[in-house]
Amino acid sequence: MSQSKRQARRAWAAARRKHIKRGHVYHVQFHHDPACAIYSQERICCCNPDRILMDDRGRVLARVQGAGFYDPLELVEGAQ
Ligand SMILES: [Zn+2]
Repeated sequence: MSQSKRQARRAWAAARRKHIKRGHVYHVQFHHDPACAIYSQERICCCNPDRILMDDRGRVLARVQGAGFYDPLELVEGAQ
């Protein structure tokens, strides 16, 4: 994993820790490349999606680019 990717992942984790609080409604969006394999039968991300965290009114709280493949477990770790 490249240094910048690691920094982006760290920024994404920090944004989630900062904004996601128990009992609050929020939305997380992943903007995949149209050619990403997440849209295939395998449903495994092979692109570098933008990650966007929004509150319940649709306001963007954080946007992180360049954090690498989407991993379904990344929303479990660090989110409380
Ligand atoms: Zn993808």
